Amino acid sequence: MERRANGINRLLKKAGRPVKLMEVCGTHTVAIFRHGIRGLFPGISFLSGPGCPVCVTSKRDIDCSILIAREPGVTLLTFGDMMRVPGALGSLNRARADGADVKVVYSPLDAVAAAEKQPDRKFVFFATGFETTIPLVAAALDMAHSLGLDNFFVYSVHKLVPPALRALLSAPDARVSLDGFILPGHVSAIIGPRPYGFLAEEFHIPAVVTGFEADEIMEGTLMLLEQIESGSARVEVAYKKVVRDAGNQTALSLMDRYFRPFDAEWRGIGMIPASGLRLKEQWAAMDAERVFKPHPPVSHEVSPGDGGCSCGDVLRGLKLPVDCRLFGSGCTPDHPVGACMVSTEGSCAAYFKYGPFIKRQTSGQ
Ligand code: SF4
Repeated sequence: MERRANGINRLLKKAGRPVKLMEVCGTHTVAIFRHGIRGLFPGISFLSGPGCPVCVTSKRDIDCSILIAREPGVTLLTFGDMMRVPGALGSLNRARADGADVKVVYSPLDAVAAAEKQPDRKFVFFATGFETTIPLVAAALDMAHSLGLDNFFVYSVHKLVPPALRALLSAPDARVSLDGFILPGHVSAIIGPRPYGFLAEEFHIPAVVTGFEADEIMEGTLMLLEQIESGSARVEVAYKKVVRDAGNQTALSLMDRYFRPFDAEWRGIGMIPASGLRLKEQWAAMDAERVFKPHPPVSHEVSPGDGGCSCGDVLRGLKLPVDCRLFGSGCTPDHPVGACMVSTEGSCAAYFKYGPFIKRQTSGQ
């Protein structure tokens, strides 16, 4: 640990300027705070990225899940964090208070078990999350298919990390300027490091996949600073005990069996080509979108300044949560205005919880 800290400080001194790194995923944001890494290295601006599934689920998708939950004879199941995310029609918590049957589960397999127990009811799993979660949802579909269930459905709003990073770096209007990416270990355990190759090849930005313990984050940070110092750009892995070069082929083929890419709407960011996964045509009978055809009655244009919320800019690394005028006053974890304050892995919620450390840095944009 000491060796890594000394190495980071030496290279920061050599750089002679603040270094901007984006930790793509919310788990890293929280871990960097929890381990006190921001406080240790004030010369590094750690910017949060778009890797919090709750934060990037669009209002339209929340509203569609509410409309499905309101259908007679339907139970909608989802992860706990999704319950409080506001859409234009309210939240799933609100829908439940109004009489919809909405339940929290820890795994999509629990939703399959519920469907098996009550064949006269329809069970819809509202599936959010990135490549880490998607294989588990594919396994749930596989299990429901094997059991011959005709009352289990998935409403998939899954998102993919690499297309989102490309979109951040290609945005014509507000493009984040970065020195390097800290890439998520759990997502990379599924997809491997190769899908990030464009970061180095096309954008000449160093990137390192790493884990979530203090020594792993510091090792990844040190490897990034070494690349920055030498003027090189590669995708490296500092988490080799978990991440294989080819990823997890079993998980990838299970995902490929059930899902296909489509252009998805990211909250506060907008449409990103081929960044979401929907069920393939052959599984239409289990696709809640095709079966229930939810049509929210209101317009859902994506607006980064929605209600004064700056979530879109926070997710693109253009602002820190503390730069939002509502942070900590109009918007708190108990009364969230935007999705970034809802999830424990949301950037705004993390900054709120670990507030004493945040005065040391700015977004530097
Ligand atoms: S503090 Fe609240 S209102 Fe501001 S960006 Fe974060 S979630 Fe949005």
